[in-house]
Amino acid sequence: MRHMVSPEEASDLVLEQIPFLPAQTVAHCDALNRTLARDIESTFDVPPWDNSAMDGYGVLSRDLAEASLTTPITLPVAQTVAAGALSQSEIRPGTCARIMTGAPIPPGVDAVVMREETSESSDSVQFTTTVAAGQNIRRRGSDIARGEVPLRAGRLIRAAEWGLLASLGQAQVEVAAQPRVAIITTGAELVDVGSTLQDGQIHDSNSWTLAGLSQSSGASVVAIRHVGDDPQEFECAVQELLPQCDALLSSGGVSMGDFDPVRDVLPRIAQVHFWKIAMKPGKPVMFATHHSTGRTVPIWGLPGNPVSVMVAWEQFVRPALLKMQNRRAVKRLEVRAIIDGAHRSPQGKVEFVRALVVPDAQAATGWTARLAGDQSSGRLSSMTHANALLVVPAEETLLTAGDQVVAQMTEWPETTI
Ligand code: AMP
Ligand code: MG
Repeated sequence: MRHMVSPEEASDLVLEQIPFLPAQTVAHCDALNRTLARDIESTFDVPPWDNSAMDGYGVLSRDLAEASLTTPITLPVAQTVAAGALSQSEIRPGTCARIMTGAPIPPGVDAVVMREETSESSDSVQFTTTVAAGQNIRRRGSDIARGEVPLRAGRLIRAAEWGLLASLGQAQVEVAAQPRVAIITTGAELVDVGSTLQDGQIHDSNSWTLAGLSQSSGASVVAIRHVGDDPQEFECAVQELLPQCDALLSSGGVSMGDFDPVRDVLPRIAQVHFWKIAMKPGKPVMFATHHSTGRTVPIWGLPGNPVSVMVAWEQFVRPALLKMQNRRAVKRLEVRAIIDGAHRSPQGKVEFVRALVVPDAQAATGWTARLAGDQSSGRLSSMTHANALLVVPAEETLLTAGDQVVAQMTEWPETTI
């Protein structure tokens, strides 16, 4: 076992151990927020035929070559084409077709004039402008041509991808399996959200932050267990849950306290890769792997403090859950932000400072970081005022207002200042 690795080393050590999960096929309706497991090649053109981009009139552009406000040209309407109509008969020179958005372009037509630019009366239309050939026509295959690969494996299926898969007729979609996450919270002082607090008790919040974070990364939470501080109880829960999950997270009991079961149990039943990380908050994080019948299940002994557990999840669990799903980008995007106040940081540890990072035209980098107040690791409320973790390098001990810092964006802001 190694001691006091840096957060970067720890993150690499985790990712080295993480297996890809096998792919599975789901119905299109269940594919949102899953990760594509194979490249998607289009077997036909989208759109499948030339169609109108506007409600208007399909014409031969040269018929309108002389049209102007002073010399309007009037053409009779030879046919009306609705979206979904079958192929139409040819439009002869000197006539036009009334055509709706998305309707197929009839043979002979080479441009569409917007309805708003014309006036129609008794089945003939007056045109007062010229039109270029091709105007307002969406060409067959102009969105996606047959044989193109518009989506590659490893892509998150957001609304746009979900819709695109539908337009490509992909009724079944091959996606990465969702990591099954099991959570064990330790601590004799913890009670469930529904319990009235007795002396010495607090509500368990880590179950919910860990479950929420895990779900937001595409995982499904298959179990949440609470145990006290008894090593045997903890070990039983781990043994019970290991066969049912792809990732096991515990919270608390991993530090130097007298009643810290995780610290003692994990090294006995799994291979530990590191225990302490030179970071704040979240120094005690034990990472282990359990191997049985050809399966590797990673186990994280995360800290108990409500902020530490979230910060440690961000750095070491999230990238792993994404890697399991074969996602390409597993790290958060970073921006450079200008901090709005002073901050003291410990020597020798990377500190992750909670902040609200928002776009700000006045700031030199375009981003301002508002520190989220008291940074104690027990203050969960500070996380509700943050959308970023500022990364303060190990050797940096003092930041002053106006300094530039790297901000890991855990969410993008919805407002500017
Ligand atoms: P520990 O690492 O077990 O010593 O826990 C550190 C601190 O975090 C203690 O103050 C615990 O009461 C608190 N804590 C541990 N687990 C939880 C939890 N699931 N929910 C809220 N607070 C917790
Ligand atoms: Mg504890």
